[in-house]
Amino acid sequence: MSIKYSYNKETLSYDVITTTSRKKIIKWAVMFAASIVISIVYYVIYSRIYDTPKERILNTQLSDLMFNYQMLSQELAHIDQTLSDIQKRDDDIYRTVLESNPIPASIRQAGFGGVNRYEHLEGYQNSYLMIAAAKHTDRIIKQLVVQSISYDEVIEKALNKEQMALSRPAIQPISNKKLKAVSSFGWRMHPKLGYGRPHTGMDFSADTGTEIFATGDGTVVKAEHTSGGYGKMIVIDHGFGYQTLYGHLNSFAVLPGSEVKRGQLIGTVGNTGLSVGPHVHYEVHKNGQHVNPINYFQDLSPEEYVLLVEESLKNDILEKW
Ligand SMILES: [Zn+2]
Repeated sequence: MSIKYSYNKETLSYDVITTTSRKKIIKWAVMFAASIVISIVYYVIYSRIYDTPKERILNTQLSDLMFNYQMLSQELAHIDQTLSDIQKRDDDIYRTVLESNPIPASIRQAGFGGVNRYEHLEGYQNSYLMIAAAKHTDRIIKQLVVQSISYDEVIEKALNKEQMALSRPAIQPISNKKLKAVSSFGWRMHPKLGYGRPHTGMDFSADTGTEIFATGDGTVVKAEHTSGGYGKMIVIDHGFGYQTLYGHLNSFAVLPGSEVKRGQLIGTVGNTGLSVGPHVHYEVHKNGQHVNPINYFQDLSPEEYVLLVEESLKNDILEKW
């Protein structure tokens, strides 16, 4: 066994290191190592329970971010509300006044189809917040585009309103001062047979040869002798979704393609087709649907209107059943 020495600074000589002092060094080293291990254990436990300063900053930033997203989502909800008020006013007032159909909800609410536009936002801890906000914003943008197009149309219509007023079928098709011998649009019962059928227009009874007038400005699209029930008939396209039809004529005063003005002579009353007496069967179509012509006559006072309604319900229709 080798002998170990240590240098003694006080005596300036070498002392023999005894077993006792070596044991002390080992003991000290063990204590030192143990304290490091304990420190590490403490650090791990501590950091599990408490945040480091950096984590605290990040957590504050994260909760700020979450708060901001919540605020954004509330702001977007406000924008939604305002936008829906604008859309409602557009559909219920502007478009109604200018006789445009309301924009269907399916178009107003339509989203973006096809590719996943939000892929770049996936895979983050708060992806759901970012994707929800991005989707919401996109939806609003889409609705604003639809709204903007609608306003273009509304402006166009407002500018065309004067022409629209002239084109609308607004007078009776024959001179009808007495407001007699008219039969009404709608469901009619046969006076004897006891069953009903819809009548798609109004019948104005008059002598053969009585003048028939265009009820609004437009273009003649048909002036022909049909094999169907209408006999000789004229169809005028007035634009703005309006067409009028005049049936059972005796003669034509216009050709297909003719431009006509309201009040212009277009033909004469006859008894052609499935007619049971000289009359003109008059129809108004709005966007392809039959509508009651009586609602469009502007050549009637309120009293005359009531009279015409009463009279038209009294008289039977003048076509074969
Ligand atoms: Zn009829």
